[in-house]
Amino acid sequence: MKRYNGWGDPAINAKLPDSAAKILENLAGPPRPAQNVALETILKKVPSPRTAESHPCISFDAAKRFEHAHGQSMPDWIAMRFGTLSSFPDAVATPATDSEAEDVLAFADRHRMTVIPYGGGTSVVGHLDVPESGTPVLSLSMEKMNKMIRLDPRNMIAEFEAGITGPQLENALHPHGFTLGHYPQSFDYSTLGGWVVTRSAGQQSLYYGRIENLFAGGSVIMPAGKMSLPPFPASAAGPDLRHAVLGSEGRMGLLTRAAVRISGIPENDRIYGIFFPDWETALSAVSQLANSDAPLSMIRLSNPSETYTNLFLAGHERQIGLLKSYLRLRGFSENNWCMMLMGLIGSSRLYSPGKRIARAMIRKNGGIWTGSPMGDAWRKNRFRAPYLRNTLWDKGYAVDTLETATIWDRVTPTMNAVENAIAGALDDLGEKVHVFTHLSHVYTSGSSIYTTYVFRLADSPEETHFRWRRIKDAASRAIVEQGGTISHQHGVGVDHKPYLGAEKGEAGMIVLRGLLRAADPKSRMNTGKLIDS
Ligand SMILES: Cc1cc2nc3c(=O)[nH]c(=O)nc-3n(C[C@H](O)[C@H](O)[C@H](O)COP(=O)(O)OP(=O)(O)OC[C@H]3O[C@@H](n4cnc5c(N)ncnc54)[C@H](O)[C@@H]3O)c2cc1C
Repeated sequence: MKRYNGWGDPAINAKLPDSAAKILENLAGPPRPAQNVALETILKKVPSPRTAESHPCISFDAAKRFEHAHGQSMPDWIAMRFGTLSSFPDAVATPATDSEAEDVLAFADRHRMTVIPYGGGTSVVGHLDVPESGTPVLSLSMEKMNKMIRLDPRNMIAEFEAGITGPQLENALHPHGFTLGHYPQSFDYSTLGGWVVTRSAGQQSLYYGRIENLFAGGSVIMPAGKMSLPPFPASAAGPDLRHAVLGSEGRMGLLTRAAVRISGIPENDRIYGIFFPDWETALSAVSQLANSDAPLSMIRLSNPSETYTNLFLAGHERQIGLLKSYLRLRGFSENNWCMMLMGLIGSSRLYSPGKRIARAMIRKNGGIWTGSPMGDAWRKNRFRAPYLRNTLWDKGYAVDTLETATIWDRVTPTMNAVENAIAGALDDLGEKVHVFTHLSHVYTSGSSIYTTYVFRLADSPEETHFRWRRIKDAASRAIVEQGGTISHQHGVGVDHKPYLGAEKGEAGMIVLRGLLRAADPKSRMNTGKLIDS
């Protein structure tokens, strides 16, 4: 069951403590209560389909067409909540097998339909937006293609149908003692196929690797033909076509199956909380840790603004009060301190010595180790945090995130430039924006930078969208000016498309266009995403 106009299971609600609501009011301004349009009203606006051509796998049901008309980007949220969504797929196909999927794609081609592959619908950059053109649109949902096809322990590979969600996939592997270990925060709903074609990053990517490290091969039905990618452990046979599929955002064709590299379930897997006195000290410690022998699964370093925000959002005033007193006693100044969550993982033989290495490095850099309670609480709620977006919207605030990655030298200037661009984006409108950042995925050479911002909803969808657009453009320009990538993990979709050329360059865009045209000569697949046309 999914909320029709927000994130996740309608039975799960996140609470905003009263004390936190007051602080937020100071930081982002007093909220105006949101307008939420009822599902019945929205469904009345779903127009008649532009095609009467039918197929055993497709449905014209209005509720299904609405569900498949959006993802989770801010423009999607504005349209869902204010009830202004104007473009809907004309039909939704739910094939259950490769051959049914192939048949649906041939049907769409015969009837000149645009096809939008749909995984879990968790895209945050407009991958699933329905183009406003005269061409009928078919959403091709992978919801029935959700099985494990083959488990191959000898070769540490498992093959799945690409519509399998995170929980379905891990539930298939765990009883056999294996895991994929890919945990994006959207884990409960997003799918293996979606992860591959958006190049997603799981929370413990430092140990398991990003999806491009896990994706071993698979099967893609392209308009130009079927492409099979064998799961070689490695290959020097020319460019690796897996990397053409990774990040293709539904433009090359439909990924129906994916083979992935699996791991044994680790003997130890813990997350610890650490505080550093200030950002520069913390950053230096993190880059040393990323290049150490410590068996890391994740590092998540919050800047002072995010540390402050996390602590007030957590409520638990008594415990947080004690923590603050302790840190003050140790000489930390409240405006500067930075919280870090650090995951350590692996076999018992390596875990304990690795933990000693990490602790010594943290101590040497002035960090304070607080043990595992913060890490345990984070793990328990790791997929619950996005539910706060529903609560805040109902209170009258929009929350969005954006991300980039850059080398260590550029991390602080890029983070500051992005935060400054966001914080000042609505100054002339007299609107405040609360902004905060953490480093979410670290590498030997640098890190991703994940920024969250909160602003007040306006009275109208147009004005709310205008505010968001202003912030998004200012932040995206800052990323490009600082030389960061326009996306570390969310992909391009429509929201990042204007900035892709700056990153790939003219020749790079020629290669990319040529690749997509070769796979899909008539431009039927997810037209208008990633690149124009
Ligand atoms: C609350 C929340 C938390 C998130 N956390 C993370 C995170 O931690 N890390 C991260 O990387 N991302 C995260 N995301 C972004 C999103 O979950 C990822 O981009 C995810 O990989 C999308 O998968 P999906 O199955 O939902 O795909 P969808 O959103 O359904 O589709 C995304 C794109 O993939 C295409 N597609 C989907 N399936 C197929 C297929 N089988 N064949 C061809 N094309 C296909 C679609 O056409 C579309 O272009 C988050 C999003 C939300 C809302």
